[in-house]
Amino acid sequence: MSKYALVIDYKYCTGCHTCEVACRKEKNIPIEEYGIKVIRQGPIKLGGKWMYDFVPIPSNLCDVCTDRIEIGKDPACVQHCLSACMSAVPVEQIGAHIVDKGEKVACFIP
Ligand code: SF4
Ligand code: SF4
Repeated sequence: MSKYALVIDYKYCTGCHTCEVACRKEKNIPIEEYGIKVIRQGPIKLGGKWMYDFVPIPSNLCDVCTDRIEIGKDPACVQHCLSACMSAVPVEQIGAHIVDKGEKVACFIP
């Protein structure tokens, strides 16, 4: 099986924290730990505009839900993300996957 990456198009992230909860349930992660953590960046003034972002950051506990991918399912966070801003992508397809996405795209490879 290909190695997978988590691609996060965080300009669409609403900061709802559903991915944190989905990951915690899927991986039985205790409350003081995170498989993925949504941080708030800003507000900061940049180039005359106020910027405010939510950025989901996977931790070293994230394996891109390899066990789910092996049986044809999306990772738990991807499945439950309300804005569909995350996807699991084979590493050799990352370039093609992000080429048209524009700014504020992050890629996590465990
Ligand atoms: S891919 Fe799986 S392990 Fe990684 S953050 Fe999402 S739910 Fe958690
Ligand atoms: S579930 Fe999706 S929209 Fe909600 S915080 Fe996570 S990445 Fe952002």
